[in-house]
Amino acid sequence: PCNRSMAEPAVAPGPEPPGLGLAVQLMSQAHRAIALTGAGVSTPSGLPDFRSPGTGLWEHQDPMQVASLLAFRHHPQAFLERMRPFAERILTAQPNAAHRALARLEEAGRLQGVITQNVDGLHQKAGSSRVLEIHGHLRQATCVACYREFPTGPFLEPLVLPGSLPRCPVCGGLLKPNIILMGEQLPHDLIRRARQWVESCDLILVAGSSLEITPAAELPYQAVEHGARCIIVNHQATSMDARADVVIHDDVAAVLPRLAAEVAYER
Ligand code: ZN
Repeated sequence: PCNRSMAEPAVAPGPEPPGLGLAVQLMSQAHRAIALTGAGVSTPSGLPDFRSPGTGLWEHQDPMQVASLLAFRHHPQAFLERMRPFAERILTAQPNAAHRALARLEEAGRLQGVITQNVDGLHQKAGSSRVLEIHGHLRQATCVACYREFPTGPFLEPLVLPGSLPRCPVCGGLLKPNIILMGEQLPHDLIRRARQWVESCDLILVAGSSLEITPAAELPYQAVEHGARCIIVNHQATSMDARADVVIHDDVAAVLPRLAAEVAYER
């Protein structure tokens, strides 16, 4: 007979995800491991994957209309209105166990750095110091008229207050947060560095990315082509699953801390 009062505690550690042992082994053997992270790493921090259908902040709107550079230039007010809830959530979001696990791996000398598609800055908040933000970030904004750059700090209020627009203090032009919108070139220097990391790594840990958006989607392929091992931790299947050494379809905030705990202090 089942005794309900003896049930599992609410926060049970759970069974070891299949593949974790091999992931620990590969990560322990690696000398130049890097990570590639996507929106799935920040969803446990309450940030929606705004590009993902069904779960996205803008799921009922065409992302090309909402998040494109043209939309910003032609309808900045409408653009910022739509971006506001996302910006507000980013500004108050805190890193989760997945971010902290990656920071811990870097601190232990087990991870060279993180390439991220996220614009929320949570890797740095968690303590990661080598982060390539290939889709940009919200810490700075650029004037669309004179191209001067400013820290976003003083402009955060106009950015999140309905009905107001952040303006360049020099020329009065609109300030666009330094996130890369659809239709916009990714920063060449960052992409070049990301490719260098990928071509010289011996392991790439893909976490919380469904690898649907290039060039991030191409990076694990390039790593594997250059001889690296590949570990994928993501809820959904990815186009890279068949080429990876380990695929764990599970929660990054549950898996990465276990990986870090076993790898970080093993040496
Ligand atoms: Zn300006």
